[in-house]
Amino acid sequence: NLIQLIKQVVIDMNLEANKKDIQLEMSLELEEFIIEGDQNRLQQVIQNVVINSIKYTPSDGKVKVLIVEYSKKDIIFEVRDNGIGIKEEELPIVFNRYYKSKKMEYSEDSTGLGLFIAKEIVEKHKGSIWIESVFGEGTSVFIRLPVRQ
Ligand code: ATP
Ligand code: MG
Repeated sequence: NLIQLIKQVVIDMNLEANKKDIQLEMSLELEEFIIEGDQNRLQQVIQNVVINSIKYTPSDGKVKVLIVEYSKKDIIFEVRDNGIGIKEEELPIVFNRYYKSKKMEYSEDSTGLGLFIAKEIVEKHKGSIWIESVFGEGTSVFIRLPVRQ
């Protein structure tokens, strides 16, 4: 149940968000959406993306997890933040292995693997992951996953 998995990750991340005075919210109008796959791997995907939003959003910011749409075929959910954003020229490469921010404040404790791993796992589950962002305003990461057949 993907919805339960998302809820659990958000609850687990609350402490992390609180430390930075970031409001971590979710708006999930579904109770259940069953997908097929590796629960631990998918948990890692959601964690990586939520951790990024917390990391790249300054204090007093907001991170929200929401369902964009769902059907008999698949579900799309979004992790949205109002953080530092990603420059247009950077967007095509953030999923590259070892690609990470050049800013000292972030690069020290980064490996540049989080999104690369997330993409690998999502694609192994026949899903897709993409990002929309406005530099200086915020970032939305979208994840689409197919329903269990
Ligand atoms: P790691 O996840 O391995 O600790 P990382 O966060 O640097 O390191 P990725 O998660 O792969 O690596 O992200 C790659 C880069 O994409 C980041 O260094 C950052 O520049 C940018 N990025 C990712 N998520 C966001 C976000 N929510 N807001 C702004 N920039 C982001
Ligand atoms: Mg990361």
